[in-house]
Amino acid sequence: MTLLPARRLLLVHAHPDDESINNGVTMARYAAEGALVTLVTCTLGEEGEVIPADLAHLAPDRDDTLGPHRVGELAAAMRALGVTDHRFLGGAGRYRDSGMMGAPQNDRPNAFWQADLDEAAAHLVAVIREVRPQVLVTYDPNGGYGHPDHIQAHRVAMRAAELAAQAGFRPDLGPAYAIGKIYWNCNPRSDVEDGLARLHAAGHAFPGIASADDVPGVVPDADVTATITGSEAYTAAKTEAMRAHYTQIVVDGPFFALSNDLGQPLFRTEHYQLVHGFSGAAEGAREDDLFAGVDGTATREHGARIEEVAE
Ligand SMILES: [Zn+2]
Repeated sequence: MTLLPARRLLLVHAHPDDESINNGVTMARYAAEGALVTLVTCTLGEEGEVIPADLAHLAPDRDDTLGPHRVGELAAAMRALGVTDHRFLGGAGRYRDSGMMGAPQNDRPNAFWQADLDEAAAHLVAVIREVRPQVLVTYDPNGGYGHPDHIQAHRVAMRAAELAAQAGFRPDLGPAYAIGKIYWNCNPRSDVEDGLARLHAAGHAFPGIASADDVPGVVPDADVTATITGSEAYTAAKTEAMRAHYTQIVVDGPFFALSNDLGQPLFRTEHYQLVHGFSGAAEGAREDDLFAGVDGTATREHGARIEEVAE
């Protein structure tokens, strides 16, 4: 039997770079605190747009080598965050980036969007039963912004959490295990609007500025149940991790842009919505630790029971 760290966090993402943008501070913090941080990325991001002109040849309509290149970017990002356990769903290259919603790439047989849900979930069940995470982080049902791979990552993560707990499902993948808490990534509207206001006020190098509608996972502030605030060190690690994804992201101080050239805030505070399990915070208060209430240290009896959110 393998000994596991006491606290274990699993994150499920669609493409290399999503983890650093959404959860870089959170991953850096829990890795530094000695938790096991496991990242499962579902595709290699083969259909991403390439920002640096001298790497344009990597693009899918030219050499089609962006996927393997991004494996290296992800590895560098994980070094920046101090995360050592990162994997691709079903192994690198098992599922291909599906491209934007409606693109012909959606229909390729190996596109993640075409994956059989239970087959894809079974790959994740194996990981869940191996690392036995108390906390799972993934996207909301719209994947934050409607990208097919983000929607599919949400579906696979939620289905795998359900199947992993069923003793009758694939006993060959290990003993049944129920994840204590599941969170969806989110961005409270007031933070997004404040960040965009700072960007408008600051000097910056971007051709344009995003609107709140361009930022994924924006929710009313009241929907946020957990907030992880980055120290200087964790914010620096997140920034370095985002810079490691240099085919996809341009970072300028506390701001960044994707290939659409629209500047947006690089958030040093990350937010979550608890959708399964007990909150470790007093009723009405936000948690400041995703493990609150699951590791024997927090006040489970004071936490409100969060019911499974129906899709
Ligand atoms: Zn993505």
